[in-house]
Amino acid sequence: MFDEIHEECGVFGAYNIKDASSITYYGLHTLQHRGQEASGIAVSDHGHIHVKKGKGLTIDVFTKEKLEQMKGNMAIGHVRYSTAGGQENANIQPIVARGSKREIAIVHNGQIVNEKELRVELEEAGCIFQGTSDSEIVLHMIQKEEGSLCEKVMSTAKKLVGAFSILVMSENEMYAIRDQKGLRPLSYTKMQDGYVIGSETCAFEVLGLYSHTDVLPGQIIQFKDGIVRKMIYDEQASNHMCAMEYIYFARPDSVIENINVHNFRKETGRLLAQNDDVKADIVIGVPDSSLSAAIGYAEQSEIPFETGLVKNRFVGRTFIQPTQSQRDRGVRMKLSAIPHVVSGKSVVMIDDSIVRGTTSRRIVRLLKEAGASEVHVRIASPIITSPCFYGVDTSTKEELIGARMSKEEICRYIEADSLEFMNIAQLSKAANEQGLCTACFDGNYCTDLFSYAKVLE
Ligand code: AMP
Ligand code: SF4
Repeated sequence: MFDEIHEECGVFGAYNIKDASSITYYGLHTLQHRGQEASGIAVSDHGHIHVKKGKGLTIDVFTKEKLEQMKGNMAIGHVRYSTAGGQENANIQPIVARGSKREIAIVHNGQIVNEKELRVELEEAGCIFQGTSDSEIVLHMIQKEEGSLCEKVMSTAKKLVGAFSILVMSENEMYAIRDQKGLRPLSYTKMQDGYVIGSETCAFEVLGLYSHTDVLPGQIIQFKDGIVRKMIYDEQASNHMCAMEYIYFARPDSVIENINVHNFRKETGRLLAQNDDVKADIVIGVPDSSLSAAIGYAEQSEIPFETGLVKNRFVGRTFIQPTQSQRDRGVRMKLSAIPHVVSGKSVVMIDDSIVRGTTSRRIVRLLKEAGASEVHVRIASPIITSPCFYGVDTSTKEELIGARMSKEEICRYIEADSLEFMNIAQLSKAANEQGLCTACFDGNYCTDLFSYAKVLE
């Protein structure tokens, strides 16, 4: 049941910009790494909100003709990845409410942990839900609150607990909201006479926009009458940016809280190499997310960086997986080792994280079959021991290898010659000691967990 609602998503919005839906399409395409299962855009055109959404990549859901029909100078969009069970069409975002007074559309990245309590309250007050997503709860709450749209958004935000970067759009206003702990990133920047807002700054750079402002934890940004108004809804807000955004999730060209993601990863590699006295011939990274850390490790250790693994970039989520017999014959579609590079070599193999342990085990075997004499695995994050309730699919506790096995046991399981992880102090150092959420490594959740706390019992 708890598996159903874990989501990893990207949001993008365009306010007061000509062809807002096309701009949003480019933004979503750049944020595609945050979710490949569904995509959607809502555009506001003269008092009406039109929505198009569907399963698949942004380029599959939207054709040029479709986008041309979506006229208007305000739009919000969403890319979504959800684990099994949460994929009904009603959950695909943006979600729109068409009330008698106004229409509102919403997109949301994150996970609200008091959603069950809020849902019960709303159902008792007569609300009918179409899907199972927590985004719909937020939409109902905004509708039910009193006052102007701004007041409604403000009082709704105060009642939500958990991780949320949310965009709300009415016919003529837009709001960007970030949770009190700043768990998910959200930034905005000026474009033409308006603004664009997005989960990651890489989505601005494709539009030729090279500066940005972060929405702060506990802040709401209102875009109305062509101007921006910053509002704080929680004076107690604090910084707990998801460490996995830096480690695995975000694109290396994005900047999160003034730290470039590539530089962060490179620093984790450097820190891993300090005090590591392993004797090896080459350092390799698992493409793509571990290459930056591998470069940092190689620089610090002075062991040459090499390309030992090649990724087939065209294996999507819908790819038909090889049958067991094909697998037995060694059909490997995602990653290949380069025997000419690794054969006869002692290899340091850097990966960003170990979740279930299957990937590392597979890669160690791959490298040994390609002739590597030794494979020393170095992981550019601490051991994942606890599940995430803030919107990243890091699996259930039972599935997490780090929750069941010691470092030595994991090393044996993945058949590595040695294994090391980072510690949390090193992780904080890589983040310049800015506040981080590290709950999946140390079990210190920065909010109440409400009904989710039962999972940990
Ligand atoms: P596993 O095989 O379960 O140990 O998965 C570890 C691999 O999954 C690592 O190489 C990561 O790059 C990747 N990974 C880490 N976190 C996630 C996540 N939340 N969703 C999908 N993949 C992930
Ligand atoms: Fe990110 Fe882990 Fe915190 Fe979840 S628990 S928000 S994955 S650091």
